[in-house]
Amino acid sequence: MRVTRLIWVVTLVVLGMAETGRAEGRKLKVLTSFLPVYCFTMNVAGDLAEVENLLPPGADPHEFQFSPREMRKLNAADVIVINGLQLESWLDRVIKSTDHPQTVVEMAAGLKSELITASPYLNLGAGASEATAPNPHIWLDPHLAAHAVTNILNALQKADPTNAAGYERNARQYLARLEKLDGELRAGLAPFKGKPVITLHDAFPYFARRYDLRIVGVVEKVPEVEPSLRYVGELGKVIRSEKVKAIFSERQSSPKLAEQMARDYHLAVAQLDTLETGEFKPDAYEEGMRNNLRALEEALK
Ligand SMILES: [Zn+2]
Repeated sequence: MRVTRLIWVVTLVVLGMAETGRAEGRKLKVLTSFLPVYCFTMNVAGDLAEVENLLPPGADPHEFQFSPREMRKLNAADVIVINGLQLESWLDRVIKSTDHPQTVVEMAAGLKSELITASPYLNLGAGASEATAPNPHIWLDPHLAAHAVTNILNALQKADPTNAAGYERNARQYLARLEKLDGELRAGLAPFKGKPVITLHDAFPYFARRYDLRIVGVVEKVPEVEPSLRYVGELGKVIRSEKVKAIFSERQSSPKLAEQMARDYHLAVAQLDTLETGEFKPDAYEEGMRNNLRALEEALK
């Protein structure tokens, strides 16, 4: 009788342990928040871990409504990789409300002096704007993307030490690809150094800094919110005084406003991709950045 009870207790304890730990032979489950995070994580994970994205294709990472479907994905993950810098504030709230013990990795972790907090052009040339929360669009600078990849590598190695060497190998290969991409962008954009441009939403300050383009204005100060006529008028003055030649429109947004501005002020339109949404495949980031390079070369020449 006593022996049977002991066996039961031992069995329950062992079952309980198997529930909290990762079962032998099961791959690490990694959940990412949106496209660039997915691409970087996929390239570090290779086939050593299972990578799944939280947001369905086409969902805007700036604003997202959680459903039970995403809640299930969240509960099944061992590691969650996000951009950070409050881009996924909708996710922070949910993660805090669960008691599921996951590791949350921020691609932006460790960045400080590299972050852009105040974009002076948001004030339309009227002086420095107030310092706000850091701009979250770090992935559009391949150099900061490499920082993100290193953060992801460290996290996967820690969560799954058995495959540490494999993750390292994958990450090295991907970092070499990012380096190559950066070189192509640098060479391709070198003739346009210092060119004044305006963008649709404030997604490109890191990209512009990396490749010496000069952003002098943003059409939508708040993403998806149409600017007032007065604001557009002020922007027009900046476009004339700075002799702006091109406006960056975005694949993700309606082209109407950018096209209107382009007609009114004789600007070339470069349709750029913020890569916030798109097809979930490992090389989507590199492909999107190369498409951006071609669109810029066409618009700025
Ligand atoms: Zn954005």
